[in-house]
Amino acid sequence: MKINMAIKHLTPNFYKNFQCIGSQCEDDCCHGWTISIDKKTFTAYEKHTNQELRLKAKENIKKVKKSHGHWGEIQFKENGACKFLQDDGLCFIHRVAGGEALSSTCKTYPRMTIDKGNEIRHTLSLSCPEVSRQVLLDPSAMLLSITERKGHAVAKTPNNANTFLQQLACHIIENHALSIEVRLWIIGMLVHRDDSKLSHIDFINQLAEIDERDGLETHFLALTKNHTLHWWALRALSNVLLGSTNKNRRGYGPMSQCLDAIFNFFSQDSDGNKIEELYYEWQQKWQPWLATRPHILNNYLRYWVYHQDFPSENEPAQNSYQLLVADFFLLRAYLCALTIAGAEPSEQLMIGLFYSYHSQRLHNSTFADAVRNSLNQSNLNSDAAIYSMLKL
Ligand code: SF4
Repeated sequence: MKINMAIKHLTPNFYKNFQCIGSQCEDDCCHGWTISIDKKTFTAYEKHTNQELRLKAKENIKKVKKSHGHWGEIQFKENGACKFLQDDGLCFIHRVAGGEALSSTCKTYPRMTIDKGNEIRHTLSLSCPEVSRQVLLDPSAMLLSITERKGHAVAKTPNNANTFLQQLACHIIENHALSIEVRLWIIGMLVHRDDSKLSHIDFINQLAEIDERDGLETHFLALTKNHTLHWWALRALSNVLLGSTNKNRRGYGPMSQCLDAIFNFFSQDSDGNKIEELYYEWQQKWQPWLATRPHILNNYLRYWVYHQDFPSENEPAQNSYQLLVADFFLLRAYLCALTIAGAEPSEQLMIGLFYSYHSQRLHNSTFADAVRNSLNQSNLNSDAAIYSMLKL
């Protein structure tokens, strides 16, 4: 039952500053993914006064009736483009019936809301290249404005343990004195530990003392490094991506370039030396480049926690953490593979990779499960194995 209550709206700067760049966009959102049509829009097209629209809708929208929000699905041309996309790059529906006639998917993408009962988070999908630019390149992208408005919402019992873990994760991410890998490792220790004997806060205070005494980076360096395991994980996860990528999907160009680079780089035999070479690239090229743009990876982690509502309430926190590390592990390796293949570190290269990776990652409902299965098959499901994926 919905009740009247004060609802907190969280709006990050990247959301406020986003504007679709239309024809300037290196991709478009009219091909290569499921464009669902809500029931209201579907019915409106069936009864529309414009006969051409009525006919085209009948021919090109398949009735699937999965839910009121997902009543129909737009069919695609052979090249993967939406059947309503005209040769001039404009949308037929928009042309004949105006922007208001678009389905909510077309009207809102890449905008999204995360409804947490008395809190609404406004966010954008990283699968849009312009969103990737706003999120990663603006140092103030993750600054949040909070406003309160009266509204109707379903009261939800807050999951205090998850909310607390999320706050701690944000706090740790903001500790810019530590490397990204060490920050992710600390978040992992929080996720995996039982706080019934020692609270998370006392644990963090202990870590702060260790850091002051001999540096947390030193302890992180002492963790086991297993590059053979990295090799298997990288190959297995890249095969998951390869399986979900085809030339009609969004982001295909940069993603296939990246997968070509990674598969060319590896021979078929397990080779830890290749991994050494990959991380040498990270240390020699990417780390210095990123050091002058520290906001890029800080923003990425903050965005990930905010947008995915990490750790998800729908699964054990350890599972959310496994995916967080898998994403970081792959993106880091792919950046290295791209520069080994001859590219130079650049914002454009980074944006191309991040948006194309998330086009596969966020618009494929089976991707997360496939990644998890793959990690489990490669024996990368224990906390120690996951931490080892962070090591260079
Ligand atoms: S992908 Fe983003 S910037 Fe490109 S056309 Fe779609 S909304 Fe606009």
